[in-house]
Amino acid sequence: MTQQNPIPGPPGPPFQPPPIVPYLTPSLNPTGAVCPACGSPHAKKVSFTWWGGVPGPRLFNHVKCLACGAGYNGKNGKSNTTAITLYLVIGGIVGLIIFAMFVFVR
Ligand SMILES: [Zn+2]
Repeated sequence: MTQQNPIPGPPGPPFQPPPIVPYLTPSLNPTGAVCPACGSPHAKKVSFTWWGGVPGPRLFNHVKCLACGAGYNGKNGKSNTTAITLYLVIGGIVGLIIFAMFVFVR
């Protein structure tokens, strides 16, 4: 007895090897970049950081190395230090502007 698909699908090759889907391997960095500190490909996405709250790590594809704990950009495998510094500086300036408006517009 042969197994047949009851729903006819689009014509194509009868068998294709399953593609390697990155998000099926959660221990691996979903974007494939390796840690700039230790070279480990094992990282997890960070959903919250002290410097960026919730939107920060999303903006910079921030991941955390499971081997050494270093945080880096999961997209290009580079350190996010510059981006974090800019983020904090811009956030600080915006905060100062809001603070100044609060103080002077009264
Ligand atoms: Zn590492």
